[in-house]
Amino acid sequence: MNVFLTGGAGFIGSHLADALLAQGHTVTVYDNLSSGQERFIAHNLKNKSFTFINADLLDQTTLTTALQGHDAVFHLAANPHVRLGETHTNLDLQQGIIATYNVLDAMRQHQITKIIFSSSSVVYGETTEPSLPETYGPTLPISLYGAGKLGAEGLISAYCGTFDFQAWMYRFANVVGARGTHGVIVDFIAKLNANPHELEILGDGRQEKPYLYVSDCVQGILFGFTHATDTMNLFNLSSDTTTTVTRIAEMVVEEMGLSNVKFKYTGGKRGWKGDVPRFLLDATKIKNLGWNTTYSSDEAVRHAIRDVLDAKL
Ligand code: NAD
Repeated sequence: MNVFLTGGAGFIGSHLADALLAQGHTVTVYDNLSSGQERFIAHNLKNKSFTFINADLLDQTTLTTALQGHDAVFHLAANPHVRLGETHTNLDLQQGIIATYNVLDAMRQHQITKIIFSSSSVVYGETTEPSLPETYGPTLPISLYGAGKLGAEGLISAYCGTFDFQAWMYRFANVVGARGTHGVIVDFIAKLNANPHELEILGDGRQEKPYLYVSDCVQGILFGFTHATDTMNLFNLSSDTTTTVTRIAEMVVEEMGLSNVKFKYTGGKRGWKGDVPRFLLDATKIKNLGWNTTYSSDEAVRHAIRDVLDAKL
């Protein structure tokens, strides 16, 4: 298969590129390197089955030309920072919704109809449900990032209904691992490198979420794509375990070999406005097809801390 991969120089996208190449596919990565890094794909640049296009999804002319001749689009490019919407209010509109529209409409022009999309658990918003299945609704996100993801899901669904597209949409838990460039683990390590005696923790530390190791995430994306055949295939991708923020802080301290680190909580139940402090995703739907995670949430966090400390690529 000739695959077009947006965001393929990013954290998850570069691992997905590796896995697609290993399966024998030809891969075109389209990425503007806004948060991705060329060193994540450097090992593939000489591979004849791999092409890198350094360009922006908001440049519709370049995108439409580049898409020609592909069989399927894995669309992962987006602003990855949930928190940025607080200060940059049109970011998720542009990078989440308009960029997705550009991808879909360029696909329509070339009669490419298979799209695989990286959505997020944040589309569910803040709920009182103990565990969230894909059928949970109404989905009312509390961050602009979440609104961008939900808007993109809506557009993809509309292209399935109107232009006979077929879609695989994944609502990821928090993904962690080698090449991670953002999120709580990277943040704690940077803070402790700057000051090994004290760690500022956003919120009360009791925020509790599921963490998914990046190889489990990539395998889940590919598993759903090959095993689900509906027009619209929507899956949560997660383990059924969670890790608290304080536990992550303790594990980072342990792995860095530090002791007597004072945890300084900023207070409040959430890390920032728009943060969903506690949730659990119900991934029964994809598990019933035969997929499961290799790592629990705590194991994913532990491995990811080691990966980031070792600067593993
Ligand atoms: P990332 O920032 O490493 O990857 C995003 C990639 O998209 C980057 O390489 C960036 O340069 C590229 N990009 C962004 N805007 C672009 C544009 N306009 N044109 C071209 N390229 C552009 O982030 P990630 O963590 O690998 O996330 C990948 C996808 O998964 C994103 O859509 C993100 O929202 C989603 N997601 C991630 C997580 C997580 O925990 N990491 C959880 C849920 C969903």
